[in-house]
Amino acid sequence: MKGYQIAYILKRKDPKLYEEARKIKEAYGLKWDEAIKIAKGEIPEPLKLNEISRKLADLENEIKTIKEDFEDIKVTLKFKVEKCKYVDDEGYCTKYPWIGKRDNWKVREDIVRGRLVYHVKVAENRFLCLGCPYFKLKKFA
Ligand code: SF4
Repeated sequence: MKGYQIAYILKRKDPKLYEEARKIKEAYGLKWDEAIKIAKGEIPEPLKLNEISRKLADLENEIKTIKEDFEDIKVTLKFKVEKCKYVDDEGYCTKYPWIGKRDNWKVREDIVRGRLVYHVKVAENRFLCLGCPYFKLKKFA
């Protein structure tokens, strides 16, 4: 049975539901069968164009804020890596060695108290400095 036939039957059997479906059909430019399903609550109502625009604008603002925050983090990390007294001339953190390492970390192996450890090249893995509480400003001559 075609959508308009279903609508015709619905109009006779349930005029209130028919009217609801008709409004939805006109508001969203849908076919009868889709409009009837929405009126019955079987499928959700589609978003209107202005709702989509508003949601996109909200999303755009959120992305903008995230980008700004990320830029601030990058500036902070650059500062920490450039100014921390524990970064050596080659860009490695000498404050605390790591027992394990990740494949994407650039490291320099070292033996500390007979144990193999890794010094991370923070100049290339700046995020390690992000939450580090040991940052100490280097003294300049
Ligand atoms: S901020 Fe922390 S992790 Fe970064 S170089 Fe300094 S001591 Fe090392």
